[in-house]
Amino acid sequence: MSYKITQVEPQIGEEEVANVKSVLESGWLTEGKYTQSFIDEFKKLSGIDNVLLTNNGTLALYLAILSLDLPPKSEVLVPAFTFYATASAVVFAGHIPKIYDVNENTWHGDLNHASKLVSHSTRAIIPVHIYGSMCDMTEYKNFAELYNLKIIEDAAQAVGVKKDGVHAGAYSDISTFSFFADKTITMGEGAAICTNNNALFEKLKLLRNQGRPNSGTFIHPALGMNFRVTDMQAAVGCAQLLKLENIAKERRGKYERYKSNLTSAEIKLQKIDSGVNPIPFRFAITSPKIEKIKDKLEQNGIQTRSFFYPMNKQPAIAKYGQIDCPVAMTLYESGLALPIHSKITNHDIDLITELIMDTLK
Ligand SMILES: *Cc1c(COP(=O)(O)O)cnc(C)c1O
Repeated sequence: MSYKITQVEPQIGEEEVANVKSVLESGWLTEGKYTQSFIDEFKKLSGIDNVLLTNNGTLALYLAILSLDLPPKSEVLVPAFTFYATASAVVFAGHIPKIYDVNENTWHGDLNHASKLVSHSTRAIIPVHIYGSMCDMTEYKNFAELYNLKIIEDAAQAVGVKKDGVHAGAYSDISTFSFFADKTITMGEGAAICTNNNALFEKLKLLRNQGRPNSGTFIHPALGMNFRVTDMQAAVGCAQLLKLENIAKERRGKYERYKSNLTSAEIKLQKIDSGVNPIPFRFAITSPKIEKIKDKLEQNGIQTRSFFYPMNKQPAIAKYGQIDCPVAMTLYESGLALPIHSKITNHDIDLITELIMDTLK
């Protein structure tokens, strides 16, 4: 079906085209000028000391986990409400995902539930910032200290998001961001791995680039593979970074319009912790009547997207232990993501919210 209003649209313009053209014309296609420039700008934005680019958010998580050198088959705590890659990366890195439930209001990890899953083999926990909001990282830090765990922060959806002035990813041992086409800013495919820990950074450099600190040498002091990007991707990323502030402003405005139009008690939004300055990633709602709302919107050419199906229910993850995560299941059953990208107009939002309010009458 062709939609009148699509779920996601990257915001690509002349700037991205000009940057890519200049890379192609320069003849230097692999990591170069734009890669360095993107890294420098991302360090400034995030306030994190070390940044590396890699192919995508999934492999960024994989490398981040590998760099921690956890004993084989360590247990890693993963929230139930996230994209599949958060859990699959743990398995690919040779570890066991233990799935903890989330809070019904913030949709972020429920550390009370996580504490019940900690065993003598638990070595790390992954917080995931959902839909452009941010977890309470102080809570996570205290938890990690109490149980002596590493933190790998999945900030795929949290580029530009801050709590109390601190950027997502800056609180933990290591963090990852995605620049997939539907993320806040994009390179098509791409990701950043960030750490304030210099020893981890050195390990990651080797893992990412054939076990050597720099290209152009055939002595490989460690085991590594090729997880590099192209300068074309970084060129798109550089143009996107310049738009981030505007993207954030626009999306916050659209979020407020959606919110003030949806006056029904049968619609709930994600609770945003105080101090968080979110960049809405979708306009995400839950409702007891979500099926009816979804049908109505789809019939009217508006592309909706379901919430994540809980990690504890994914066959390849569930085999590591049957854990009940009722909140994540309820979110899946009652949630719906609505579009909030740059092509969505006020008129579109009013149309969508009118259809929803009509359905609830
Ligand atoms: C998108 C996403 C990923 C994976 O990133 P890719 O770049 O698509 O591989 C991981 N975790 C979360 C929470 C995501 O939203």
